[in-house]
Amino acid sequence: AVIERTRAVEPQVRAFNSRDEEDALAQAARSDARRAAGQVLGPLDGIPIGLKDVIAVRDQPLTASSRMLANFVSPYDATVAERLKNAGAVLWGRLNLDEFAMGSSTENSATQTTHNPWDLTRVPGGSSGGSAAAVAAGEAIAALGSDTGGSIRQPAALCGVVGLKPSYGLVSRYGLIAFASSLDQIGPFTRSVEDAALLLQAIAGHDERDSTSFKTAIPDYRAALFGAGETLGQRSPASSGGAANAALAPAGALCAGRRLGVPKEYFGEGIDPEVAAAVEAAIAFYREQGCEIVEVSLPHTRYCLDVYYVLATAEASSNLARYDGIRYGHRAQGARDIIDLYFKSRAEGFGEEVKRRIILGTYVLSSGYYDAYYLRAQKVRRLVTQDFLKAYEQVDALITPTVPAPAFEIGAKADPLALYLCDIYTIGANLAGLPAISLPCGFTSSGLPIGLQLIGQAFAEADLLKIAHAYE
Ligand code: GLN
Repeated sequence: AVIERTRAVEPQVRAFNSRDEEDALAQAARSDARRAAGQVLGPLDGIPIGLKDVIAVRDQPLTASSRMLANFVSPYDATVAERLKNAGAVLWGRLNLDEFAMGSSTENSATQTTHNPWDLTRVPGGSSGGSAAAVAAGEAIAALGSDTGGSIRQPAALCGVVGLKPSYGLVSRYGLIAFASSLDQIGPFTRSVEDAALLLQAIAGHDERDSTSFKTAIPDYRAALFGAGETLGQRSPASSGGAANAALAPAGALCAGRRLGVPKEYFGEGIDPEVAAAVEAAIAFYREQGCEIVEVSLPHTRYCLDVYYVLATAEASSNLARYDGIRYGHRAQGARDIIDLYFKSRAEGFGEEVKRRIILGTYVLSSGYYDAYYLRAQKVRRLVTQDFLKAYEQVDALITPTVPAPAFEIGAKADPLALYLCDIYTIGANLAGLPAISLPCGFTSSGLPIGLQLIGQAFAEADLLKIAHAYE
């Protein structure tokens, strides 16, 4: 069914960089055989899951939507790919992104532009735009993306699906093409919070092959959704925009006693009035369900973008140094000597935005500037983190919009600085390493999805998912 659906809509949506129907059907046949033989099935047995084209799957293309890796095929599985396979999933297709995950609209892809399934003239968001669009359009049951400054939550919001960025260190980055290693996390795109819990269950947990992976017990995330005394027997479609579960439980029962913080800095100028209204309505819903709503302040929010663009570009310039035209990836023809080969291969292989970031990152790391930019940004990052920790002395989680505005027209935000502003509400959680989820919270008058963000405490995914599930 997913293959048929993809054949029908993919010419308009263009979410996939590549896909292999035969291979997917072979994986599905193996799942059927397991079932027929009465074997114990995995929690995701036979479920087609798409992967952002920065997550390695053995013997599948791995392009990062870059000319640099146009012909690269991965020789090994990322840890998350291995774990999905162990859970029985069918790994279906390679999903488009902004080149090396740098962008907020998927327009920086060297492969193609992905279209928002809700309005094909608009962007799906980014950088994991292919993952969000594929799940929204029914071309995959779920997908994985990566989030460095918002790349799961922002496209999830713009495409009306659920997107979860886990705590830094919860999910192994082994086999993820690195963008900014101290910020990158892999997470799921799904149609419901319950599905997000199932996917997280499959991919979370310590991995020796990622030195930043955290040793922590992994709870049963799905069981946590249906906590003590609640009988939420069914779930609503993710697009219902809330309240459906409320009908199944007595008023005030869904999250009684929880305290949700509303950071006042997240409702300032620049927010679209329809987005603000939808998020206010969601806050009112939580209040009706017995949550205490508390205004909090994250005073260093205004530095988040600046800090992010120093740290992320610095780390990217270092991570992308490996693409030298020698070891793997694009190699230019006709170079005079090895230095010329480096220059030509990188000039031809990388797109404009990637080059801009490498130049900026090299600059902030250069001797004489390191203290003034990189080191200073690290210090401000600490202040940003302390803002969150202070807020969590008062509240259990934070509630904010995911993005200031709904999806924009393809080509409308050509100015890179205007595009950087899309991440204003999502970057804080990356800088502080916190889990955060975007949920569909209604539509604009022109029918574009709006996203609500919940930011949780470090490694408190079970709690975050439970609060999110109450809204669904
Ligand atoms: N839009 C942000 C950027 O361009 C975030 C991207 C991401 O999370 N990968 O860097």
